[in-house]
Amino acid sequence: MRILLAEDETALAAQLAAALGDAGYAVECAEDGERADELAQTESFDAIVLDLGLPKLDGLSLLRAWREAGVSTPVLVLTARGSWHEKVQGIDGGADDYMAKPFRIEEVLARLRALIRRSSGQIAAELRCGAVTLDPKAARVAVDGAPVKLTSHEYRVLAYLMHHRGQIVSQSELIEHIYAQSFDRESNTVEVFIARLRRKLGTASIETVRGMGYRMGSTS
Ligand code: CA
Repeated sequence: MRILLAEDETALAAQLAAALGDAGYAVECAEDGERADELAQTESFDAIVLDLGLPKLDGLSLLRAWREAGVSTPVLVLTARGSWHEKVQGIDGGADDYMAKPFRIEEVLARLRALIRRSSGQIAAELRCGAVTLDPKAARVAVDGAPVKLTSHEYRVLAYLMHHRGQIVSQSELIEHIYAQSFDRESNTVEVFIARLRRKLGTASIETVRGMGYRMGSTS
């Protein structure tokens, strides 16, 4: 799952980016509103963390513009301390959740997990597909209850497929959601990750839909 982090406070942005990376997300950072807008309008993200007080273009204008343009990505808004009107405006502007500064990083992570879960139609905190279970909180994967060790990219591929269980996910969609930045992307790597995942999780765990992509759990 890929997150856009729009935050201009350098120390906070670095801290959040590190925590999100540790939690298994691919993170792309924007330090001002213009950059955030460019990324949100041209690239694909599973969630956006948006500080409302951004230079160049403020977060609230961005949020309204995105919603008007049909960008439906879940947005977690970060507001200044005690600014209740910012919260109200954020929610009215199309935010899915908000956090007031200062906050605990753990809470941001928990709220993001919930947003991503809801946007992919999942109710349970732990994702399950046949014998495979994935716990987004601990970034842990198991087959029949036995823990399986995955690299960070293998984990990202699996998490994306499991958040979209029953759906066909194309190779290009997977590539978009597992790399933080577009220049990291190489198309043939997905096949390598899928092959490794099948070795670790069982050959039948991931289905190839010829000419279209991959699928986990053929019935949702
Ligand atoms: Ca700010």
